[in-house]
Amino acid sequence: MKKLNVIWFRNDLRLVDNKALSSAIEDAKQQDAAVLGLFIATPVTWQQHNMADIKQDFIRRRVSCLQQESAEINLTMLAVEGTDYHAVVEIFNQLTQQYKLKVFIQTDYEIDEIQRDNQVEACLTQADSELIRFDSQCIMPPGSILNQQGAVYKVFTPFKRKWLSVLFQQGVQCLAKPAVITQNVFPVKSLTLKGFKAMNAGDLCSKAWPVEQAAIIQQLRSFCQQTVADYAKLRDYPAVLGTSKLSAYLAVGAISAAQCVARLQLEAPDAWALDKTGAEVWLSELVWREFYKHILVAYPNLIKHQAFQAETDAISWSKDKGAFHAWCSGNTGYPIVDAAMRQLNQTGWMHNRLRMITASFLVKDLHIDWRWGERYFMSKLIDGDFSANNGGWQWAASTGTDAVPYFRIFNPVTQSQRFDHNGDFIRAYIPELAKFDAKTIHWPHKYSQLVADAGYVKPIVDHAQARKVTLALFAEVKQGKD
Ligand code: FAD
Repeated sequence: MKKLNVIWFRNDLRLVDNKALSSAIEDAKQQDAAVLGLFIATPVTWQQHNMADIKQDFIRRRVSCLQQESAEINLTMLAVEGTDYHAVVEIFNQLTQQYKLKVFIQTDYEIDEIQRDNQVEACLTQADSELIRFDSQCIMPPGSILNQQGAVYKVFTPFKRKWLSVLFQQGVQCLAKPAVITQNVFPVKSLTLKGFKAMNAGDLCSKAWPVEQAAIIQQLRSFCQQTVADYAKLRDYPAVLGTSKLSAYLAVGAISAAQCVARLQLEAPDAWALDKTGAEVWLSELVWREFYKHILVAYPNLIKHQAFQAETDAISWSKDKGAFHAWCSGNTGYPIVDAAMRQLNQTGWMHNRLRMITASFLVKDLHIDWRWGERYFMSKLIDGDFSANNGGWQWAASTGTDAVPYFRIFNPVTQSQRFDHNGDFIRAYIPELAKFDAKTIHWPHKYSQLVADAGYVKPIVDHAQARKVTLALFAEVKQGKD
């Protein structure tokens, strides 16, 4: 039987710094095997996992581009349609009828994905083939950053300290794009798999996000050259382009975290080791990304939507669908919350400060279960990522590891005055408030007739009152706990 090394691309949609890819090519050279890149779309599972249409569209565009980029190194890459994860196993089953396979993958951490990979592995093993895993979603793989007792850190700051000390010791390495493959090019026509369909993403098409490798790397480079120095100052202001906007690329692995850190080191060699420089603060955000992945691997029950602080699951959350709908559609009467939700609905992305404000508002002003918000975000975000989304929601809801204390409740009006002081962000997303000035726009309801004439909604909740309810809800379940 012919030997075939398959690079099964999933959340590592790139040629640069891709261990699975580089190893598959290297191994093929030594074993005299052919090489094939493979991507399997699973729209039914994606739907079940609540993946946003815009993210699905983004993945399909990136995969098409990756096919062209692969052709440049003489790598045949097939993109096929496989409905769900059962179909994926069947595809590998079919391949083993014709080839002795070695399948190279980057490990995924979520339960269904782990199960899928185990099933593929069982199918391959039965056919005298192999699955070879690389734990490379993080710079420091989950399980590698442990405290002195050998346990996983539950608090971010000591995790980060340890993470940085390891980074300083071992540095960061990125693999180059593989050279043009000269041996055993895979004969595409020998496979009959169902081809990859473009989707109709409607209004939420991802075309505002370039998907060519060169453009993505250029975005990273110019962020590190031009913006990162001011990151600590600007990252909290949603009206300003003060963050990298790389999250969608990191979520699908169109770029690796190691590429980000290596570039940062190159562009800001002194700044990144100092406290509170833009470069150091940005590096911290990349460490947060890893922290939540480490937590997910250590506490797999999180994927079953359990609260990290188990006692908070006893809180009786509101089931007010009307209030939830007002929050989703950006009609709560709180301008900063509404502008943020409209940004999410219209663009598939939301600024981090606003993710915190809107999440806090859903949980601590409307008293709605954080899981409803988590699900809604996932269904809309282009950068939807289970560990970051779950981590962010549980942080804001005070149910997570190293979460904001439950008695620290964001006031949406003062947050708005502080982080959108001129009201520019609000005006961009709430045309009804276009004529309000910087002083009045954060809480226009003092001028109720003007607000009504402008067609903006009345507030659906009183913040001061809601705050008291939150404190009581948490106090009840926390009694004797803290
Ligand atoms: P930058 O500020 O440039 O940060 C660089 C990178 O660091 C980001 O691209 C991201 O990969 C990572 N990062 C930054 N902040 C965080 C964080 N708090 N936690 C984990 N990683 C972080 N991020 C996602 O990638 N996917 C999600 O589904 C997601 N859901 C969130 C939900 C809530 C309720 C909250 C509070 C945060 C969520 N975040 C999520 C984290 C953060 O808001 C986004 O990563 C960030 O806004 C993306 O913009 P950026 O690329 O410009 O980030």
